[in-house]
Amino acid sequence: MNVLVLVGGLLVLAFTVARHQVPFRTLGLITAVFLAIFTLAGGFSFFWGLFFWSIFLVPGLLLGLPQLRLQFLTRPLLKRIRAVLPPMSDTERDAIEAGTVWWEAELFRGAPDWKLLQSYQLPTLSKEEKAFLDGPVDELCKMIDDWDITHNRLDLPPEIWAFLKQNLFFGMIIPKRYGGLEFSALAHSCVVMKISGRSISAGVTVMVPNSLGPAELLLHYGSEQQRDYYLPRLADGRDIPCFALTGPDAGSDAGAMNDTAVVCMGKHQGKRVLGLLLNWEKRYITLGPIATVLGLAFKVFDPDGLIGDQRELGITCALIPTDTPGITIGNRHFPLNAAFQNGPNSGSDVFIPMDYIIGGQKNIGTGWRMLVESLSVGRGISLPAVGTAAGMSCARYTGAYARIRKQFNTSIGKFEGVEEALARIGGMTYMMDAGRLLTLSAIDSGESPSVITAILKYYNTELMRQVINDSMDVHGGRGICMGPSNYIGRAYQTVPIGITVEGANILTRTMIIFGQGAIRCHPFLAKEMEAATLDDIPRSEAAFDSAMRGHIGYFVTNFCRAFIYGISGSHLAQAPQPGRIGDYYRRLSQMSAAFAVTSDLVLMILGGSFKRKEKLSGRFADVLGYMFYASAVLKKFETDGQPRSDMPLVEWSAKYCLYQVQGALDEILRNFPIKWLGIIVRIAIFPLGLSLRLPNDSLSHRVASLLIKPGEARDRLTQGIFLSDDPADITGRLEDALDRVIIAEPIERRLRHDHLLQPGLTEFEPWLESLQKAKQITAEEAGILLAAQVATRKVIMVDDFPAQALVNNTGVKKAAVSSKKSPPAKKAQARNKAVTGKKSTSRKRVRGK
Ligand SMILES: Cc1cc2nc3c(=O)[nH]c(=O)nc-3n(C[C@H](O)[C@H](O)[C@H](O)COP(=O)(O)OP(=O)(O)OC[C@H]3O[C@@H](n4cnc5c(N)ncnc54)[C@H](O)[C@@H]3O)c2cc1C
Repeated sequence: MNVLVLVGGLLVLAFTVARHQVPFRTLGLITAVFLAIFTLAGGFSFFWGLFFWSIFLVPGLLLGLPQLRLQFLTRPLLKRIRAVLPPMSDTERDAIEAGTVWWEAELFRGAPDWKLLQSYQLPTLSKEEKAFLDGPVDELCKMIDDWDITHNRLDLPPEIWAFLKQNLFFGMIIPKRYGGLEFSALAHSCVVMKISGRSISAGVTVMVPNSLGPAELLLHYGSEQQRDYYLPRLADGRDIPCFALTGPDAGSDAGAMNDTAVVCMGKHQGKRVLGLLLNWEKRYITLGPIATVLGLAFKVFDPDGLIGDQRELGITCALIPTDTPGITIGNRHFPLNAAFQNGPNSGSDVFIPMDYIIGGQKNIGTGWRMLVESLSVGRGISLPAVGTAAGMSCARYTGAYARIRKQFNTSIGKFEGVEEALARIGGMTYMMDAGRLLTLSAIDSGESPSVITAILKYYNTELMRQVINDSMDVHGGRGICMGPSNYIGRAYQTVPIGITVEGANILTRTMIIFGQGAIRCHPFLAKEMEAATLDDIPRSEAAFDSAMRGHIGYFVTNFCRAFIYGISGSHLAQAPQPGRIGDYYRRLSQMSAAFAVTSDLVLMILGGSFKRKEKLSGRFADVLGYMFYASAVLKKFETDGQPRSDMPLVEWSAKYCLYQVQGALDEILRNFPIKWLGIIVRIAIFPLGLSLRLPNDSLSHRVASLLIKPGEARDRLTQGIFLSDDPADITGRLEDALDRVIIAEPIERRLRHDHLLQPGLTEFEPWLESLQKAKQITAEEAGILLAAQVATRKVIMVDDFPAQALVNNTGVKKAAVSSKKSPPAKKAQARNKAVTGKKSTSRKRVRGK
């Protein structure tokens, strides 16, 4: 009885703390009164009394008495943190501080405010934007022949280039006063989505000038003169931009670049002016081979002290016309058979005046900050749109194909094995679109949520990879044989491009998402780190003490929350609505609290060495990422008006995300830095064990069923890609065949039931005629069966070519000599070495190939 009262009392106390922000003192007072009553009522034996009073009084006094706290807690902790706090490079600091914090902070801190989520408005298209999507974008999609682009030309045809320029496709982010379209992030995303669902090569071509590049940088950091000159030219395509950051030695670690600029006097337009002498070697640059203006990142040095005392001035960005003497440009890389323009470029002793620097001379050294700030928006728009488009195309066309294609006299989409793949395609597409929309709502409301955009870039491209793989499996040989009628092969080929660019995925997951999230979203961590770096010791101690007290309260509250939500199977968590959907909100609250406790403990234990624990960091990224997607799914469902027919998609996605969250937390606990503590935390946050499950077979069946027949849920899921009704277009043929096959199915079923199967040696049409003669089917039914058969054949057939037609005579073999470095690139490398004193390793690598 005593034990029950004690446990009950402690649970009520924990519940109170979990649901309400109870101040320390009040909490201490309530606990003291409770223990006193219990002691006076004779509830404790001497031993248990001593035990409970000790675990209450020791931390209570330590925290409650300032002198004691300073002596035994604040100072020792601060000393340890000062010793282990890793040095942070300027580029790291800029990357961490870039952008803003948004909804992810709620999920991070263990108590997501669902009212706040509900208050966000998912964006909608303006009339003008809608007209653009229904007009020029649809027209462009009709013009696109991806096979012609990727196989015959390896480029967009001239009429498409002209169409893109005429209709200002390259000026979506440029304000109207400069001649651009001034579209919202939503419209920008929808345009990229529609085009890349049709052709990745065309999509990337449109995406790049509108993403991180000269226009974006000019808008934020350019001088008025630069904006007035360049923006109108970029908007209408008179100038084609590219942005060159990456080089042989600087990939993910862009700060390691060897590209140099020396401050000096030089000649520009006949006059001697102060400027920069540049040497660089870049590669992988999209639109580089045809660019007329090159956005370039390099490191500035001032050895002669012409502009100050500092010798190394840091990363800087400039816009340089590509016809400037000394620039070598024009060769192409061949990225996985995609036809968008991409290639290396180099510069040898290229002199530019100071006003080529974006924003002018004052912006020397601010290039890295410019890039990371701009990246935090761009990566939330372009590639996530490409991923969603791939998901929508796979959902629509794989579903249709799975119904049309029959094996063992059954549509393959009705086999359970295929259903599993279809369900993943449907659920993950819903997730991608939901994540995309929630992120766009942040960007369109003026935020640049750097952690969320990193999450979206990573997961939308990884989900795309999964969805395309599933789609390929369902298509079998139909997806493998390339040709004009293969609508999935090129997307499959180009998946790794999305994985690699705008932050390579492994690095984004294991370093950026949680690394940046922890410092940006944690309410006290940054304050503690800042306090630890102060030189004035009393100030440092006071600031640290204040942050630490808040931190302890935050931890205790989250701990109580995680335990109470865990032990009640999340029933004691709050949800903004009742029923099954409410359960998902409650589960998310539980996981959010569990995440907050676990991540806090890991950060406290590992301190600065956490930076090297990328496996743990990656799992925390998974927890945060999938919580974000689960909340985005619930938000999308609510915004769409909770349509009943979407329920299977919503439930599949929510269950899948929650299961991933639980799995990642489980893996963190298995690899907890202190094993025994990991066990205690597991008991505290999962007191009922790992109770979440993947979507079950019946739910998967319901999702797969939505995809293999026309219907409102399928239409809503794939709203955003271009739908063709052209019988000459393979996707138009698919839609047509799906309708015809479904109409024919009841007749086929009846014939099968009556054992009226097509005899082995009889052709299809004569067989139909014989059935008609025997009055076993009507003329109309024969017509339906024939139409379905003809339409099916048009869909299941793959392309074949005369042998000679496939022989490559484009001269790629000869051109491959460009991997031996061109003379200007060699010269640039030698100059870079002279300035930086560093040896470039790229030559060695090329030789080693
Ligand atoms: C088609 C294409 C188009 C591109 N367009 C442009 C462009 O227009 N402009 C431009 O400047 N660049 C462009 N890039 C370059 C792109 O941004 C880089 O490829 C990217 O930054 C990765 O660099 P890398 O390829 O050298 O890979 P590496 O940096 O060598 O990375 C290799 C692998 O190691 C991982 N890795 C690296 N460091 C870490 C770490 N600390 N922790 C965990 N994992 C790590 C990466 O995630 C990756 O998986 C393009 C690339 C491609 C392929």
